[in-house]
Amino acid sequence: MTDQAPLDAATDHEQYGTATDHEHYEAVVVGAGPGGAAAAATLARNGVETLVLERGTEAGSKNVSGGLIYAEESAPYTIDELFPGFREHATERPVTDYYIHNVAGDTVKTFDITDLHEHDTEWCDAVLRRPMDSWLEDRVHEMTRETGGGVLTGVRVNGLLRENGRIVGVTCDELDPITADLIVAADGVNSELARDAGLMDWEEPDEWFQGVKAVVDMEPDAIDERFDIGPDEGAAHLFSGDLFEDVRGGGFLYTNEESLSIGTVFHLDSLAAEEAEPHELLDSLLTHPLLGQWLGDEYHEREYSAKLVPDSKKVASTSPHRDRLVLVGDAGGQMQAQGPIIKGMNHAVTAGALAAEAFVEARSRGDPHSAGERYEKRLQDEGVMKKLRPPRYRAVSALGEQDAVADLTDRVLESSVGRAAVRALGGNLERLYSSPYLVSMIPDTKTPYVTLPTVIAEELGEPVETRNDVEPPDLADRIGELTYDTDVGNPHIELLDNSYEASGTAVTACPVSAADFGGGCYRDEEVKTNGSTERLVSLDTQPCVECGTCAVVADTDWEHPRGGKGVEFREG
Ligand SMILES: Cc1cc2nc3c(=O)[nH]c(=O)nc-3n(C[C@H](O)[C@H](O)[C@H](O)COP(=O)(O)OP(=O)(O)OC[C@H]3O[C@@H](n4cnc5c(N)ncnc54)[C@H](O)[C@@H]3O)c2cc1C
Ligand code: SF4
Repeated sequence: MTDQAPLDAATDHEQYGTATDHEHYEAVVVGAGPGGAAAAATLARNGVETLVLERGTEAGSKNVSGGLIYAEESAPYTIDELFPGFREHATERPVTDYYIHNVAGDTVKTFDITDLHEHDTEWCDAVLRRPMDSWLEDRVHEMTRETGGGVLTGVRVNGLLRENGRIVGVTCDELDPITADLIVAADGVNSELARDAGLMDWEEPDEWFQGVKAVVDMEPDAIDERFDIGPDEGAAHLFSGDLFEDVRGGGFLYTNEESLSIGTVFHLDSLAAEEAEPHELLDSLLTHPLLGQWLGDEYHEREYSAKLVPDSKKVASTSPHRDRLVLVGDAGGQMQAQGPIIKGMNHAVTAGALAAEAFVEARSRGDPHSAGERYEKRLQDEGVMKKLRPPRYRAVSALGEQDAVADLTDRVLESSVGRAAVRALGGNLERLYSSPYLVSMIPDTKTPYVTLPTVIAEELGEPVETRNDVEPPDLADRIGELTYDTDVGNPHIELLDNSYEASGTAVTACPVSAADFGGGCYRDEEVKTNGSTERLVSLDTQPCVECGTCAVVADTDWEHPRGGKGVEFREG
């Protein structure tokens, strides 16, 4: 826990009508990621007594992102406005070069898409979540202390407190229930609060992406030289085409100060359907000849991590509030993934600040409980919802994502006619790839992720000359390097149906399990009973990185491990 825990704060619940003796704060923020930090800072700046509860031993210890954090020109709030000094103290390198590589076997066609990246972008920096979030935590603690609140780490909120059927506070593993006039659920993609309120479910794999990432050691000088950048510059490289076979998604490589973040993000339904192993897909990227020019001879992985990501186009809640509860960031499904653009942290910041601002306004009008309605309106008025659920995508996907249309598009592209069209477009393709207009309507089919980039590489690409001798660690070594505070006897996942039909997908889709590997979370085995053979799934959560994948693809009862327990990321 953060020292000097501020649990003696004054109560003002009589004013707002909470008829209990529970500890009361004006605002309780659950989660100290970018969404929670932004909400808490904005509340504190406006004199709102704010308590922040974070389950990790330190903010960031449970978090993973790619990760590029954007300050959008059109955003009403950016993180450096809320936290002066942020870029200087909490980020790695600014992104100055931005490329996408279309891959077919060892043939690659690269496009410079810096123009797309810089569209509506004031700045964009690479970050690692443990250092970033823990820096934010310190600032938030200083600010919220001033209001009589503060940040408490190692506290897991396990549900919503209701009175007369209405949400009035939160319940925790480590503390007595707490009431508040505003409850900000900034508890990320696996938000237990959003689910408790009935505002999110875990039903459909096509509503989620799964991200897997390796942080790889590299000296700053080697980064500058190999990526042809200066010490205050950074590069972002994206990868699509056939290097992940038919799985819909892509790869990324971002330069940090003295490491690289290399990872993959795939549609979870595609990962499940192809029975693909996430760690092997990551290895396909790491061992591709193209990466030889950057990775060099010595490869040392600092950390292997994974997490789910919501697809805002499908799950961003258009009304992310109930009673006193508001959802911000991934908890509200506000993570935008469109083609080569992944933006979640910046939207979490905007949403957190807008929710706080809505509460401050509601309070000043003597009606604090109208904060949710006001927040919903702000998200619309500020254009955030249009980014999260682009109307153009809705129009195109209604037709383009129908199987027959998607298959036909792929067949045409792969035909001699399609190939001729790709060749004729030639140099114009780079411009088309950089069009924000086109990117906002990309359908979630194989075409943009696999078919088109493969055809582009085959028709316009050059063979890669570099060698890549990297041998990534195997899964056992990757798991062995992770830090855990285990919770033996208190497993946070219960397998409700252990038949292979119901839960078998978890064996391949879990990023720390594999079909031929006995040391992960999920295993399948043939069990002989009364002369017949049954295929069953068994679970051991010891190496779990808490990504949430099996909550969607298997029949489980899934919750976060208790505060401070489970995996602790050092990089994120
Ligand atoms: C591989 C990968 C690549 C990504 N790349 C990018 C990128 O390049 N750019 C980008 O902007 N976004 C990226 N994202 C998405 C981005 O990480 C999220 O959108 C963002 O972190 C959401 O912020 P948040 O504050 O809503 O939630 P989080 O950052 O997830 O923070 C939630 C916090 O709540 C805490 N918490 C959860 N449950 C509880 C509980 N019950 N009690 C107390 N505390 C709790 C957690 O410990 C955590 O600190 C990527 C994600 C992944 C996985
Ligand atoms: S057991 Fe489930 S939550 Fe844990 S790492 Fe595997 S898929 Fe993710």
